[in-house]
Amino acid sequence: MTQHASRPEQLVSIDPANGEVVGSVARTPIEAIPRLVFQAHEAQRGWGALTHAQRADVLRPAAARLKAEARRLGELASREMGKPLPEAIGEANYCADGFAGELDEIVAALADIVREDKRVTSILRHTPLGVCAAITPWNFPLLMPHQSVLPALVAGNAVLLKPSEETTLVACEYAKILNEFLPAGVLTPVFGDGREGRALVLADVNLIVFTGSRETGKRIMADAGPGLKRVILELGGKDPLVVLDDADLDLAAAFAVRNSFRNAGQVCVSTERIYVDAGVRDDFLRKMLEKTRALKQGDPRGEGVNVGPMVNARQKSKVVAQIDAAIAAGATVLAGGEPREGNFVSPTILTDVDHRMEIMREETFGPVACVQAFASVDEAVRLANDTPFGLGAAVFGRDVARAGEVAERIHAGMVGINQGCGGADGCPWVGVKESGYGFHSGPEGHRQFAQVRVISRLK
Ligand code: NAD
Repeated sequence: MTQHASRPEQLVSIDPANGEVVGSVARTPIEAIPRLVFQAHEAQRGWGALTHAQRADVLRPAAARLKAEARRLGELASREMGKPLPEAIGEANYCADGFAGELDEIVAALADIVREDKRVTSILRHTPLGVCAAITPWNFPLLMPHQSVLPALVAGNAVLLKPSEETTLVACEYAKILNEFLPAGVLTPVFGDGREGRALVLADVNLIVFTGSRETGKRIMADAGPGLKRVILELGGKDPLVVLDDADLDLAAAFAVRNSFRNAGQVCVSTERIYVDAGVRDDFLRKMLEKTRALKQGDPRGEGVNVGPMVNARQKSKVVAQIDAAIAAGATVLAGGEPREGNFVSPTILTDVDHRMEIMREETFGPVACVQAFASVDEAVRLANDTPFGLGAAVFGRDVARAGEVAERIHAGMVGINQGCGGADGCPWVGVKESGYGFHSGPEGHRQFAQVRVISRLK
């Protein structure tokens, strides 16, 4: 069981796989937060006076340090939140390997843009916003801070990073590495839960970059409203997968299993709803079941384990409650479903589900794939769009043009055809409807961390 904040002044991190204490971090006193924000404003003056390229150069050596520490950071992340070790190390390596390219992309995105007509020449200049609060979740405990902090810093902002209370240790190590190179006060970690997060939002910050649940996103937006503070909100999802009658069922089933059960389903773009053509339903389910049975769940540091525990007991109860309610309402358990020890929930496939069930409407964030058959493509599109969420989606079909037409009709920020929803290098990470407000990554995303200004003169 994972529990934090067992002592008011300490955030204790407990391994969700075995209940062992991983370590603790001192909670940032709420009354200290306005002062830390004031100090960040002071530090931002000098930092903001550098060019984008100079700031990127200050950060550049951190890549090698991250790379050198990837194994240690991965082990810590795995112990704090239960991700299988190779995936946790992979996350650290991903941040390190992409670091230099990311810096270059941000610098290029923030370069001046010249616009002119017959009369006037204008320069669009991307200037710092001031102080940024970066508030992050636990499911990608390195990548989420990394994606929020890097563009904010290169844009010339000072940053206060408030990582999830579940993964403070690894975020603390990440901040320490960047702080080996940054001037004092430019990046300040703030440790705590929603109370410290809220205090930060209410303090004198100019930009709030938040990744987390839809509910918290709404609260942050309300708190940011009176001060008209800029927000970037990357929120939850309820991603659909549509399997058309001509789909390569091996490919579709492999994707479904990987994308429903990766990180024990604790991924914002997990496949949570699967709509499959009634004509291929049985074949698809047979293949899915086979591949699900081949998964190995257990100790995240164990050999060959690809599914770990839920992050904590609260998350487990939420997932189990949704499964139980669906079963009570008529869902059939094809795989999993049975109670497991500790924080574990076994990879579960449910059929005979419908949209009256909470499990088809609200984010589950657990290893559960719900499969519903459809009679027509129109019905599949209607079901896929019957949600307030709109983060990712996927459509599988051999006729790529037809699958593409279906993809166009799905209301999601990112839709993959015969693949996951992640785009090519340089694409933004973006949700529509209640999955996002503002977005990050790619040149368009990087510019959201800066204030664009227009300087014009007569020709
Ligand atoms: P959460 O919303 O509970 O918490 C996220 C962060 O917000 C934590 O650091 C928390 O301490 C802080 N917080 C809580 N209340 C706050 C408040 N009132 N003001 C300011 N900060 C507050 O989410 P979580 O459980 O940590 O993460 C899981 C959620 O994150 C899921 O919904 C998942 O889909 C979403 N997520 C989205 C993306 C994306 O890119 N769209 C990526 C990863 C995770």
